[in-house]
Amino acid sequence: MKTIGLIGGMSWESTQSYYRALNEGIKAVLGGLHSAKIALYSVDFADIEALQHRGEWEQTAAILGDAALAVQNAGADFLLICTNTMHKVAPQIQARIDIPVLHIAEATANVLVADGIKRVGLLGTRFTMEQDFYKSRLQAQGMDVLIPREHERAIIHDVIYSELCLGIVDKSSKAKYLDIVSQLSANGAQAIILGCTEIALLIQQQDTDVPLYDTTAIHASQAVAAALDKIPLPGRLMTGSD
Ligand code: GLU
Repeated sequence: MKTIGLIGGMSWESTQSYYRALNEGIKAVLGGLHSAKIALYSVDFADIEALQHRGEWEQTAAILGDAALAVQNAGADFLLICTNTMHKVAPQIQARIDIPVLHIAEATANVLVADGIKRVGLLGTRFTMEQDFYKSRLQAQGMDVLIPREHERAIIHDVIYSELCLGIVDKSSKAKYLDIVSQLSANGAQAIILGCTEIALLIQQQDTDVPLYDTTAIHASQAVAAALDKIPLPGRLMTGSD
């Protein structure tokens, strides 16, 4: 079994979901007392969040690059960055290490393509919904990506940082998210990407008929497959120096 490297803590609420999903995934295949081999470096999210909202992305890349190096030195065979948003600096993180980064948007696109989804709604932080670093990976696979309207994006973003990353799951926020899901579906989305690793703490498939793609579950399940050699390890991400 390969060792799965994780950079977590963004937030730790969703790192718990990863830890559980990875161990359950390995146990489902190998049974008994088997569990995942994991090297986890968990950062202080307050530092990262402050830098994100000041737009100081290169500083976040430096912190996460150091974490990635520590994970590699701890014996990981490949790396998961346990947040969609911080894939904004995935190329800079990849540039610091030799082991490959398993990209969360690539992992999600693989599943969507296999399921024949062509038009998809994307929920996540403002950074993920509004900037190009994430959507471009989906569009490169021929996907049409719909995002919520401005006031809806504000709701989605605020609930992530003011509630979900603090472990707060609120009924009225859930209702607002489900309305936005319905709206995207009415606009032609065949499915919705839960493109923030905490969103599945708030809404789940049983809450709606619109197909939901939980990036945490998809990322973890592809990591399990890679750890057990069921799928090949990804190649290293392209970096600025490639
Ligand atoms: N975990 C979230 C994500 O998947 C948001 C927290 C962060 O900004 O990293 O994007």
